[in-house]
Amino acid sequence: TPDVKLVVMGRMGVGKSALVVRYLTRRFIWEYDPTLEFSYKHQTLVDDDVVSMEILDTAGQLYGDNRRQWEGHVRWGDGFLLVYSVTDKQSFHDVGRMKEFLDEAKKPRNVTAVILANKMDLNHERCISTDEGEKLAQELSCGYFEGSALLGDGVISEAIEELCREVRRR
Ligand code: GDP
Ligand code: MG
Repeated sequence: TPDVKLVVMGRMGVGKSALVVRYLTRRFIWEYDPTLEFSYKHQTLVDDDVVSMEILDTAGQLYGDNRRQWEGHVRWGDGFLLVYSVTDKQSFHDVGRMKEFLDEAKKPRNVTAVILANKMDLNHERCISTDEGEKLAQELSCGYFEGSALLGDGVISEAIEELCREVRRR
């Protein structure tokens, strides 16, 4: 079994699959079936320790028909990467709702989660600022990362490493 079980969550279209594939292959894929849910096994070094992880790239909706499946993912996961797109206000608001849902499901423990703001390359379409993102992360007591799966600026690696650290610290 992996040391760390990570779940990537966020509204459809925010770039979850692009981020995960970028992390694992260092490539950017333009189109990826949004209904596909897949888990990947991976090993990496975090602070000089080998960490084996399984990453679940989710596709379901929080309040959709797959609620049961969703709850299964929540039970399974140790750490949660909550993704929104800086070009999608709704996806930003969803992060707060997901965190609430996770905290409720993981009671009495606090859930281990970090926030990743994606699509920073789309400056002209941006509607959520860094300040807003940081403020939300502070309110939810989560780490905050921003970047772009397209640019491959390493943000996904940083966010995943931070999640691994937090999970292993518990
Ligand atoms: P998911 O539904 O959250 O898994 O989102 P996808 O990974 O399928 O990405 C949805 C769309 O956003 C696709 O057309 C991607 O090419 C695009 N996309 C994902 N990440 C980025 C990014 O960082 N920048 C830009 N410009 N487009 C992105
Ligand atoms: Mg996807």
